[in-house]
Amino acid sequence: MSQHFLLSKAARSLSIARVARLSDEEAHDAFRLIRWTATEGEPVCPRCQCGATYKYETRKLWKCKACSHQFSVTSGTIFASRKMPIRDILLAIAIFVNGAKGHSALQLSRDLDVQYKTAFVLAHKIREALADEKAEETVSGEVEIDGAYFGGYVKPANWKENRRDRRLAENQTGKRRVVVIMRERNGITLPFVFKSEAQSVATIGQRVHPEATIHADQAAGWDVLHERFLTKRINHEECYSDGDACTNQAESFFSRLRRAEIGTHHHISGRYLGAYASEMAWREDNRRVSNGEQYLMATNAALQHGVSRQWKGYWQRSVN
Ligand SMILES: [Zn+2]
Repeated sequence: MSQHFLLSKAARSLSIARVARLSDEEAHDAFRLIRWTATEGEPVCPRCQCGATYKYETRKLWKCKACSHQFSVTSGTIFASRKMPIRDILLAIAIFVNGAKGHSALQLSRDLDVQYKTAFVLAHKIREALADEKAEETVSGEVEIDGAYFGGYVKPANWKENRRDRRLAENQTGKRRVVVIMRERNGITLPFVFKSEAQSVATIGQRVHPEATIHADQAAGWDVLHERFLTKRINHEECYSDGDACTNQAESFFSRLRRAEIGTHHHISGRYLGAYASEMAWREDNRRVSNGEQYLMATNAALQHGVSRQWKGYWQRSVN
């Protein structure tokens, strides 16, 4: 439905420099075209889906002829009740997609000259929209499954006598989580966050096609997968590969997420781990897509995504 604009030549030629030079009018038009692709930019009422509107030229608002609802180009989208100019939102998306290791909220706030809180919420709204696009997806064919632990780091003591056994339960912070991914070879990557690998098995059952071939390492948590799927295992310690059994693509995802944690965000807490994992899955899946197309895909995802329950008014709520 929205494909023809995304695939057009005009769409592919967009870049950060070009976005930064957009006039207010041009930015508004770009937003309008991406949001209402099916009607070639003609506004559609977000409340009743009616295409007949009155236009308030000066305020960039429309009024629905059917239900009298007044709306702007961002009403009913994840950018509803924005205070930022539209060009800055487009710029934020362009900057966001260009950061292969992710982009910190601090850096984004400097790039856009906005408050840290504003940049933090904006980036999370983009992540939410990207994650939501895969909310119903499943994977099939050759599927690599792997898990890696993040967060809840227990700092090792410097002096030998003070060394703690970080494996002991009392030394765990309780915040450590495992990201488990299901990655279809040459297809999409679905990341999920659990307390342990064993807890992920039910979700694997829902998201992986029953006739898929699973590739996993020797972690004991994956033994139960043999009951449900044709499952091939690889033993990393012995550098042994059973024919074509390997989890290279899964590991490529984790190295990207690890680089984002170490190089960009420095610390990823359990609360946002799922959001960052979804972002990195999106980057991994679209790594061969041009920046211009990624920018349009992300903008399109954000504009097709409704108002965010989690992030709308986030800071107003969190001060309570
Ligand atoms: Zn209406």
